[in-house]
Amino acid sequence: MRAVTACSFLISASLAGLATAWAQTARPPAAPPAATQAAAPAPTAAPTSSCAGNPNALGVARVVEIDTTGGPGFGFEHFKMHDFLRNGEVVLTFDDGPWLNNTPAVLKALADHCTKAVFFPIGKHATYYPEILKQVAAQGHTVGSHTWSHMNLDKKPVEEAKTEIEKGISAVKFALGAPGSPFFRFPVLKHPPEMVTYLGQRNIAIFSTDFDSFDFTMRKPEQVVKSVMTKLQKHGKGIALMHDFQHPTALALPELLNQLKAGGYKIVLMKAKEPVKTIAQYDEMIIKDVKLPTVSDRPTSSVVRTIGE
Ligand SMILES: [Zn+2]
Repeated sequence: MRAVTACSFLISASLAGLATAWAQTARPPAAPPAATQAAAPAPTAAPTSSCAGNPNALGVARVVEIDTTGGPGFGFEHFKMHDFLRNGEVVLTFDDGPWLNNTPAVLKALADHCTKAVFFPIGKHATYYPEILKQVAAQGHTVGSHTWSHMNLDKKPVEEAKTEIEKGISAVKFALGAPGSPFFRFPVLKHPPEMVTYLGQRNIAIFSTDFDSFDFTMRKPEQVVKSVMTKLQKHGKGIALMHDFQHPTALALPELLNQLKAGGYKIVLMKAKEPVKTIAQYDEMIIKDVKLPTVSDRPTSSVVRTIGE
């Protein structure tokens, strides 16, 4: 574990097991001269053992633990405080889910590469599809939040903006049955100063991005792959912003992950040191919003019956 002092967060490069497994699978064997090839010792570990069925899996090269005390900012588009990624390292982030079909497709592509990402779900979507968000968490991805209804908080009254943020956080807890991570991304990357201060007081890290894929403007998966790879080549590393909500992104992901692997990039997973602390008043609001009072709890099949078609 490696502590970075003199700032309000701590990154520990841990995960010896996974990192080692990754190194074993990821490092292409240097081609030895023909004469020595026969004498080369057999590999000590089966290179495919760390990711069943995919010898070219990306895996996870490094896991960093974030101490969110004081609300550190990440993503050089807006926050130039913490340059912790090494050259060739990538953090995959996905916004606006969970959503039918697209989020499960993203999850499958990530699982096929035994790799991990950070998700920023919309609160309302989390209450529509809690089972999908549970799968995100169950697969070991980090789940932050991204407001209740994806409201642009710029120039909103403070109380309204606060409620949007807090309901988003409480909705994730409602969906998962446990609080998510104290990681937050502002919709459309608008950062009103009062809310940045507020998140600092709440000890919630703020995520901008190192580069935005603009995948939501694209119709074809090839465009998404090209956008991410081109920007990554330009920056050399970074926190990449994509959307598991978007269908072209879901379609693009298997090829994107293949290209990241082929390009020698390494995936870093950002994890929080502690789960987020939700506020009871907003937890209650979610329960009220989601479970509107009804006089009957009878199942639909007993209420609605087809009597003619
Ligand atoms: Zn968004």
